[in-house]
Amino acid sequence: MYYTVIMKIQKDFSIKDFNTFSVDIKTKYFAEVNTIDDLQKVIKNYPDEKIFVLGGGSNVLFLRDWDGLIIKVNIMGIKVLREDEESVYVEVASGEIWDDFISWCIERNYAGVENMVMIPGTVGGAVTQNIAAYGQNITDVLFEIEVFDVEKRDLLKLKPEECNFEYRSSRFKNEWKNRYIVTSAIFKMKKNAKTFELSYHERAGRYGSIFEELKSFAKEPYTLSDVATAVKRQREKRLPNVDDYGTCGSFFRNPIVSVKKFKELEKKITDLQSYPVENLNYKNEEGEKGEFVKIPAGRLLDELGWKGKWCENVGVFDRHALCVVTNKKATGEEVSQFIQEMKKDVKKNYGVDLIEEVDIVC
Ligand SMILES: Cc1cc2nc3c(=O)[nH]c(=O)nc-3n(C[C@H](O)[C@H](O)[C@H](O)COP(=O)(O)OP(=O)(O)OC[C@H]3O[C@@H](n4cnc5c(N)ncnc54)[C@H](O)[C@@H]3O)c2cc1C
Repeated sequence: MYYTVIMKIQKDFSIKDFNTFSVDIKTKYFAEVNTIDDLQKVIKNYPDEKIFVLGGGSNVLFLRDWDGLIIKVNIMGIKVLREDEESVYVEVASGEIWDDFISWCIERNYAGVENMVMIPGTVGGAVTQNIAAYGQNITDVLFEIEVFDVEKRDLLKLKPEECNFEYRSSRFKNEWKNRYIVTSAIFKMKKNAKTFELSYHERAGRYGSIFEELKSFAKEPYTLSDVATAVKRQREKRLPNVDDYGTCGSFFRNPIVSVKKFKELEKKITDLQSYPVENLNYKNEEGEKGEFVKIPAGRLLDELGWKGKWCENVGVFDRHALCVVTNKKATGEEVSQFIQEMKKDVKKNYGVDLIEEVDIVC
C-alpha cells in the first residue's frame, strides 16, 4: 500500500517548534514539502512571496516575524546507487535527519561521516552549512548535489567544486540563497575501513582526544560504532543539549587571522592554539606555513569571562564559551543584543572580528 503525505500549508504559523533556539516568531505561510512535486506546486502557487528554506532550524536565528513563505523541507529517502570493492555511492534526500543517515551508515559499516555524529539538522542543512566535526568534513564524502532552481523551476545537478565550499560557507549561503533548494546529495562512502580519523584533540586539554576516549571503553580493532560512541561521549561532555537549552551550538566561526596577529595574541593569551586554514585535520600545529591561521573563538571569549555568563533569558554555556544558549523564552532580538556585546568585547580587547556561523534572518 502507498501512502501520500499531503503537503500542509499553514497561515500565520509560529515556528517555535521548528528552530532549536525556540524563537517564537510567526511566518505568513509555512509549507511542509514532502516531494519535489510539492516544491514545484508551492513555488508556483506563491510566486510573489519571499521565501526562506528551513531544514531542522539548528543554525538559524529569526529576529522577527517572516512576512513571506517558509518552506520546510521534509523530502525523505536513502538509496544505494552503485558500489564497487572500496566505495558505495549513496543518495540521500535533503529532508533526512543527518544523524539518522549516520546511524544508517554505521549499521552497514560505511565509513566517512562517523565523527560528525550528533550534529542536529537535516542533510540539506548539512550540505549548505558545509558541516564539520572532530576532524571530518562533509566535503570529504560529498560527491554530487541535486538542487531545485526556484527561478527556472527545474532540477539541476552540481559537483562540489561548483559550490565554493569554504569554512562553514558555500554559494548556497551567498548568491544561491533561496534560489537553489537542495533536494538530495550523493555521498561516496568507504567500505571495509580499518583506520579512522582520530587525530582531533582538544588541546586546551580539558576533554582529551577522541583516541583517549576510545581507549577508555573499547578494545582494538575499533569499529565505526566505537568511534561514533567516542565522539558522542566527547560531545555530551562539552556541548549543550537542545532538549535543555535554546541553542544553535557554536554561534561564531573560529576567526582566521594573519600569523602576525596570532603572534601578537599569543603574548596576551597563554597557549593560544592555532589551526592551519587549508585543512581541518588538526595535525599541523605550526601555523607557520601559510600567511593565515585559524584561532579558537571560544578561547578568546573564555579569557574574557563569557563562559557561564547570563543576561536574563540568554547566556553562554558553562562548558563551552562559543555556545550561546537560552532558556527557550528569549526572542531573536534578545539573542542578537547579547551576541553584539560578545563581539564588541572581543574586538575591544583583541582587535578580532567575530563572524556569526548561524544564519541570522531579519
Ligand atoms: C547543539 C548543536 C551542535 C552543533 N554542532 C555542530 C558541529 O559540530 N558542526 C557543525 O558544522 N555544525 C554544528 N551545529 C550547527 C547545525 O546543526 C548545522 O549547521 C546543521 O547542518 C544545520 O542543519 P539544519 O537542517 O538544521 O539547517 P537550518 O538551520 O534549517 O538551515 C541552515 C541554513 O541552511 C539553509 N538550508 C537548510 N536546508 C536547505 C535546503 N534543503 N536547501 C537549501 N538551503 C537550505 C537555510 O536556509 C539556512 O540558511 C550544531 C548545532 C547545535 C544546535
